[in-house]
Amino acid sequence: MYALRVVQPRPAPAAPPRSVRLSLTDRCDLACIYCRPSRDTYLDERLDLDAWRTMVHGLVGAGVRRVRLTGGEPLLHRDVVDVVRFLGSLDLDDVALTTNATRLEKLARPLREAGLRRVNVSLDTLDPARFARMTRGGRLDVVLRGVDAAREAGFDEIKLNAVVVRGENDGEIEQLVRWSWERGIVPRLLEVMQIGEGAKLRDRVVTAAEMRARLAHLLRAGEAEREIDRGPARYVFARHDPDKKVGFITGTSDTYCKGCDRLRVASDGTLRPCLAKNDGLSASAPARAGDAGAVSRAVAEAWTMKPDGDVFKGCTEPSAAAVSMRGIGG
Ligand code: SAM
Repeated sequence: MYALRVVQPRPAPAAPPRSVRLSLTDRCDLACIYCRPSRDTYLDERLDLDAWRTMVHGLVGAGVRRVRLTGGEPLLHRDVVDVVRFLGSLDLDDVALTTNATRLEKLARPLREAGLRRVNVSLDTLDPARFARMTRGGRLDVVLRGVDAAREAGFDEIKLNAVVVRGENDGEIEQLVRWSWERGIVPRLLEVMQIGEGAKLRDRVVTAAEMRARLAHLLRAGEAEREIDRGPARYVFARHDPDKKVGFITGTSDTYCKGCDRLRVASDGTLRPCLAKNDGLSASAPARAGDAGAVSRAVAEAWTMKPDGDVFKGCTEPSAAAVSMRGIGG
């Protein structure tokens, strides 16, 4: 079990959570070096499909408009297609999913047909040996077949998330960007965040500023821009093609807590208002009992635990090192 500390609520932030990440399972078939230890413990409890339905009704009742499925690895959950179909039946502003793509070859089409519009694939390298090393045993060919299947399934948008680790894949960022662009995929380069296993890689962080400098010959000059309601990534467009861009996610050199409207729900039904803290409140009982109203009330209470974004500095705070990315729902 993960340590769960319930703190005294402080006055509620003005706006309710608008965006939620649902960790369908904390299990994962890869063990990326910046994410989880090679041996790990799992949450004892997990919600079934009916409980997830009630949870989502409660979240929507509390103001949530955008949902992303994550984990662990969400495609390991046997009901993931049904969860997507259910989400697609609601009047949400966005339904998306983040995956390591090991099961995407089989699931891309059913997910698309169930109503999923956007998918983010996590892929740090195009070198099979490095991939195996960074994921502790993963197979690149399986993931590349998953990416091909996603392209064929016709999602509105596919993004690639690559965490850049100095001395490992930092020499590959241009290749990752060009490879993505050639396939109509939007590449995004992530700093290693100082959370969980990532906190052990402090000396291997490559800042977004350095990544951008290395890609300067490909990218326009000027401010990187955030997309409204699309998370913390900042985008820079290609010099020679207005349809191509690269996203940078700076969880370490710059934090983005101010205005954060994101809540996480762990696979055991715990509401987690902040990625960088272990605070949370369980909504498992009302979700299992079919009581969406009580889930909404729990969301409002959990939201009072959200740190003050004016002073809190996200994954650079000491509390972040004690968080399990896989457990909280990355
Ligand atoms: N299994 C899915 C996947 O691989 O996309 C979803 C869960 S994973 C925790 C979500 C994202 O978090 C992945 O893109 C992963 O690379 C990223 N991530 C995990 N630990 C990280 C860290 N310490 N710093 C930056 N990104 C991290």
